[in-house]
Amino acid sequence: MISESNLNALKSILSNNNNFVIIPHRNPDGDAIGSTLGLYHVLTKLDKTVTVISPNDLPHFLHWMPCSKSIVNFEQQRNKATQLIEQADYVFTLDFNVLLRTGDEMEKFLLSLNKPYIMIDHHQMPDDYAEVMFSCPEYGSTCELLYTILDKIGLDQYIDQDAATCIYTGIVTDSGSFRFPKTTSATHTTIAKLIDKGIENPKIHNSLFDNNSYNKLQLMGKALQNLAILPKLNTSFSFLSEKDLKEFHHEKGDTEGLVNYGLSIKGVDLTAFFIEQKEEKIIKISFRSHNNFNVNRFARAYFNGGGHINAAGGKSDKSLQETIAYFKTIIAEHKDEFYDELS
Ligand code: 5GP
Ligand code: MN
Repeated sequence: MISESNLNALKSILSNNNNFVIIPHRNPDGDAIGSTLGLYHVLTKLDKTVTVISPNDLPHFLHWMPCSKSIVNFEQQRNKATQLIEQADYVFTLDFNVLLRTGDEMEKFLLSLNKPYIMIDHHQMPDDYAEVMFSCPEYGSTCELLYTILDKIGLDQYIDQDAATCIYTGIVTDSGSFRFPKTTSATHTTIAKLIDKGIENPKIHNSLFDNNSYNKLQLMGKALQNLAILPKLNTSFSFLSEKDLKEFHHEKGDTEGLVNYGLSIKGVDLTAFFIEQKEEKIIKISFRSHNNFNVNRFARAYFNGGGHINAAGGKSDKSLQETIAYFKTIIAEHKDEFYDELS
């Protein structure tokens, strides 16, 4: 729900302050970068001083986005990033619900400052750190939520072609190209308005999805070979080891979307994808489900993660083999506890 009081609070903050930073989650995706850059373009048009500060690098498939080069990288440009955040009157946090999603170090830095936050996000179970909190899990993307908020406070006119391109990108990527359940008629109405602003939607799809390297497709082949099914449990899973990632010269973003293949198998309603991240000493896990299997609850209960009902993530500090064995045991013993009641 977008409340009137939050809209009024945002309007007043925008009229009374000039200096903003906007932060997406660590390992930002299309919705995180689309929403932060979308808002950046609008605030720039309003003559605000504004910078997007990403906790770490963007994946390659987003490098084409308008003004992506202006994004400051907290991990690589620490001094500049901390200075900008210290100078900001308000900090927007977009597409995440707990400050830890910016990473251990950035979270620590943010907590040391006591800045006022404005959250715009669509993940469930948000932490209570923001002065103004637009937390709307009913939206399929932060970008769609952002558009709706900007429209409601009369800023639609400031959404130019670049802003619209960014916002469109987040809606396309988080909705799986308009196929996931939260895609509503309102989503398509928003898309229609963005197209009327002159975006080149075929070109955006092309930039996002027809930009693969040969290595990425080979890595995808490996992930498909590693795909296994637990037929009695309507579950599948796949993995990529550090060795696989090295063999195919993995680059950031190359594994994006691979988890969805496991869910496309007939009869499967839950899939998991495990990626060995030796440097961070964790196994990063993505979960996807159909219907009322709640992977947000599942990832929170067993893998220190969270997300949405049908798309969530988590991590494990066990080895790859141990993590997969643990997953299989939990699924065998507890899978039936994670089906939400149908309303
Ligand atoms: P993905 O599998 O694409 O990385 O993430 C799917 C969804 O789950 C995204 O909305 C993402 O923000 C959320 N998510 C992924 N990993 C984590 C995590 O470790 N913790 C939490 N709370 N959410 C996560
Ligand atoms: Mn999102």
